[in-house]
Amino acid sequence: MDFDYIIVGLGLAGIAFVEELKKHNKSFLVFDDSSQNSSLVAGGMYNPVVLKRFTPVWNAHEQLEMAIPFYQKLEKKFRIKLDHKLDIYRIFKSIEEQNNWFVACDKKLLHDYMIPELIYNSNKNIRAPFGMGKLTGTGRIDVKNLVKHYKKTLMEEGLLKKEKFYYDEMKSYDEYVDYKAIRAKRIVFCEGFGLKKNPFFNELPMKEVKGELITIHAPDLNIDYLIKSAVFMMPLGDNLYKVGATFNWNDKTKDPTKDGKEELELKLSSVINCKYKIVEHTAGIRPTIKDRRPILGLHPKNKKLAIFNGLGTRGVMIAPLMARKLYQHIENNMELDKEIAIDRFQK
Ligand SMILES: Cc1cc2nc3c(=O)[nH]c(=O)nc-3n(C[C@H](O)[C@H](O)[C@H](O)COP(=O)(O)OP(=O)(O)OC[C@H]3O[C@@H](n4cnc5c(N)ncnc54)[C@H](O)[C@@H]3O)c2cc1C
Repeated sequence: MDFDYIIVGLGLAGIAFVEELKKHNKSFLVFDDSSQNSSLVAGGMYNPVVLKRFTPVWNAHEQLEMAIPFYQKLEKKFRIKLDHKLDIYRIFKSIEEQNNWFVACDKKLLHDYMIPELIYNSNKNIRAPFGMGKLTGTGRIDVKNLVKHYKKTLMEEGLLKKEKFYYDEMKSYDEYVDYKAIRAKRIVFCEGFGLKKNPFFNELPMKEVKGELITIHAPDLNIDYLIKSAVFMMPLGDNLYKVGATFNWNDKTKDPTKDGKEELELKLSSVINCKYKIVEHTAGIRPTIKDRRPILGLHPKNKKLAIFNGLGTRGVMIAPLMARKLYQHIENNMELDKEIAIDRFQK
């Protein structure tokens, strides 16, 4: 046998699964053709609170407990900064929202993160007449930098092929699969929106959502925290801020659009009150499943094929924990929770 695993896709899902394989001394080869870029464009924010309704994000605590050490370990390995810890300031739209904030602050799972105080805005370039609520324990992972370093290292180790995986060139036998001249015990597909082209799994109900982001240069803004209002605004340093993101369920391309940019600029004008210049405009497709949960597991008819997808809008927090669950399921037969298992969609 050449490898224990072939991995298709090296975004957040692929990286998290490869880390599991390394931990357990399994051999692997990765294929990535750069056809999708969700992880490369992601804002990278992690935040355990749904900021529309002030409710906890699904399983957030458990996810964060694993995610933060996961990125810290990679920071050490690559000697780069990945985890930028940043408070989030949620701008209130009304007195009612202020009240809702204080009610939510007392709730279990939320009071560790939500500060029960009304923050008055003193920055003349931010529009917040009703004040803001502050969240701690939040931040931004530099996912693009992570993917870049991860790819470089795997290339140097001879463990990454920067090429498309052709599904029809795979042959499956009782104990292994052959792909071209390579033999492996299993294949794990971590393809993001690329799933749509995968003949083994493309019947799963993916409801992908395109997102666009702009990066602005705004020397007069002077904020060192994340702002959530009509849009998110994340400080990147050097007076640069990432602003986003849009949600578009119809456009299936990953090209930035004029409409997306206009929407972001319009929303941004309701949040800030100073001059800025757009220096970058990006877009990608969030791999989201119909019920907004990840999707993991083995193919019902071919146990040598597995799927790791559906990271949706929160890949940063979810990926490490899901990778561990999938690994334990494949190698140790540990049952997957019903809400994330592939068989929830099988009739
Ligand atoms: C605009 C935007 C903003 C976002 N902001 C955040 C955020 O702030 N916080 C957060 O947690 N999440 C955010 N997300 C979501 C996050 O990006 C995703 O959850 C996550 O990146 C998905 O990772 P993935 O590995 O499943 O998919 P991807 O990153 O898309 O990776 C899939 C990989 O598979 C490869 N591939 C596919 N098919 C093949 C094939 N046949 N052969 C070879 N390679 C193949 C692709 O090239 C790609 O590299 C955002 C997403 C977008 C689009």
